[in-house]
Amino acid sequence: MTISQPKTRDDLIALLSITDPDELQALYDAAYAVKAANVGRVVYYRGLVEFSNYCIKDCKYCGIRKSNDEVERFDTPRDDILAMARWAWENRYGSLTLQSGERQDEAFIDYVEGLVRDIKDLSHGELGLTLCVGEQTEDTYRRWFEAGAHRYLLRIETSNPDLYATLHPQDGHHRWQVRKDCLDSLRRIGYQVGTGDMIGLPGQTLGDLADDILFYRDMDIDMIGMGPYVVHHNTPVGKQVLAGGLDSDEEKRRRLELGLKMIAVTRLFLPDVNIAATTALQALHPLGRELGLKAGANVLMPIVTVPKYRPQYLLYDNKPCVDEVPDQCKNCISARVASVGDTIGLGQWGDSPHFFHKK
Ligand code: SAM
Ligand code: SF4
Repeated sequence: MTISQPKTRDDLIALLSITDPDELQALYDAAYAVKAANVGRVVYYRGLVEFSNYCIKDCKYCGIRKSNDEVERFDTPRDDILAMARWAWENRYGSLTLQSGERQDEAFIDYVEGLVRDIKDLSHGELGLTLCVGEQTEDTYRRWFEAGAHRYLLRIETSNPDLYATLHPQDGHHRWQVRKDCLDSLRRIGYQVGTGDMIGLPGQTLGDLADDILFYRDMDIDMIGMGPYVVHHNTPVGKQVLAGGLDSDEEKRRRLELGLKMIAVTRLFLPDVNIAATTALQALHPLGRELGLKAGANVLMPIVTVPKYRPQYLLYDNKPCVDEVPDQCKNCISARVASVGDTIGLGQWGDSPHFFHKK
């Protein structure tokens, strides 16, 4: 089967509908060839520091939502975060991503701003910095940009506002339009803007997923961090999925396959963006992230969270790498990249070529 570049919504849906194993392989091979030609066979690291699990939000799928009182909350002390940042810099990780639950109070905003400055200082400006700390005002985003962060990741979760509404409380604090407006603010300020979706959500159609890819194009997105939805047992969506018998091995395999198809089809449609092979792929399959690289992804986010806090940052069940320390993660992940035949862009920021193409 010859896979040609998708141009329309129908083309996207047709590719996302493939299930025949030979056709699937042809899809992944075509996407890998497009990756090689446009962003190279080089994988860039963004060491992921999950520095706090306090959150003011209550997203119905997420294990650290504020109503989950099984979670022991933590804030990583500043010095511990800086030690992890130093480790990442010394190990030539190129970039770091700071991620946490969402908070909008002044103390948090100051704290993140200080962290960004300190990490830039300790690495003599060498570590690239991505933030992934939720919805904020344009002023806040600007402060952090001026402190030295240059990329921001805010998943739209789904481009379908009606589906979004089923996944979030209708309390005025979880509004799809606000999230989209945040992406516009980030673009105006000058960030490299990342977004993404969760794949295989209850009620989500292939049309929704095709629309997510069109959303990435229409929003002129530079980097995409998307991944399969994975059940957390103590959340409303997780309970609904478990009660409906929709978390069988067959269902997990289907969600993994859909996640890989989304990477491949997005790569074919948007050849020069950065696409991450996310940890959620590995939660569904031991080789999930390698498969993601083979399907067209070119970014990995090795976990650099302080080991003692990892068991408290569980967005979903069976999260991988929870028991490992950074050195183990580093060795494991470089072996994974080598097994695919890609090389690692050590010490490089690995910015999205798309960001520079549109200048
Ligand atoms: N709080 C910030 C936010 O929501 O943008 C950043 C951290 S949040 C934990 C990062 C991402 O985790 C979310 O955008 C969401 O897509 C993902 N996530 C949460 N629960 C998940 C689940 N059960 N399965 C897969 N991904 C999940
Ligand atoms: Fe909080 Fe982000 Fe989880 Fe929503 S997805 S509950 S904002 S950490």
